[in-house]
Amino acid sequence: MALHTDVLVVGAGPSGLALGIDLARRGVDALVVEKASGLFPGSRGKGIQPRTMEVFDDLGVLDAIQAAGSAYPVGMIWQDGRRVAEHSMFDPAEASEDSPYTEPWMVPQWRTQEILLARLEELGGRVAFGREVTGLAQNGEQDGEG
Ligand SMILES: Cc1cc2nc3c(=O)[nH]c(=O)nc-3n(C[C@H](O)[C@H](O)[C@H](O)COP(=O)(O)OP(=O)(O)OC[C@H]3O[C@@H](n4cnc5c(N)ncnc54)[C@H](O)[C@@H]3O)c2cc1C
Repeated sequence: MALHTDVLVVGAGPSGLALGIDLARRGVDALVVEKASGLFPGSRGKGIQPRTMEVFDDLGVLDAIQAAGSAYPVGMIWQDGRRVAEHSMFDPAEASEDSPYTEPWMVPQWRTQEILLARLEELGGRVAFGREVTGLAQNGEQDGEG
């Protein structure tokens, strides 16, 4: 593992992986470090918002995200153990050129992160797992040195 990098990204969650992809595709030497031994295995963020879909399109992962997920199911209302009604979870807006995605797309977060990591590695980026940032030192100059 290289000991020098121009940019250190702390954390291989969705934000760190997305930033790593953006830097890698711009040819910036960057390293993502993650204190855990692997990607987060659970799913908090499962509802991918329309704006995130636009960003995923730009990062080159939209096809994989669409293949891995589905639209939200209907909401169900239960009473005395019986399903008595259904309702749509969202009121879809009109799609437009500026806003092509109109409702959230459901993908488990662990799968989204797998897709982002694969894209990062495809672009030559790296994640060092089992590496925790424990401190930062900042020099007084904002000249990019040090
Ligand atoms: C219950 C719940 C439901 C949610 N539902 C949704 C949803 O439906 N849709 C949605 O978009 N979002 C949802 N979210 C929010 C979403 O999960 C977060 O916005 C997202 O995980 C944030 O990503 P992140 O990469 O910024 O941070 P994180 O996912 O927290 O990742 C940070 C990473 O940094 C690592 N790290 C931390 N410190 C260090 C260190 N010092 N050195 C090295 N590594 C370090 C951690 O191990 C972790 O892997 C939900 C959140 C919760 C709690």
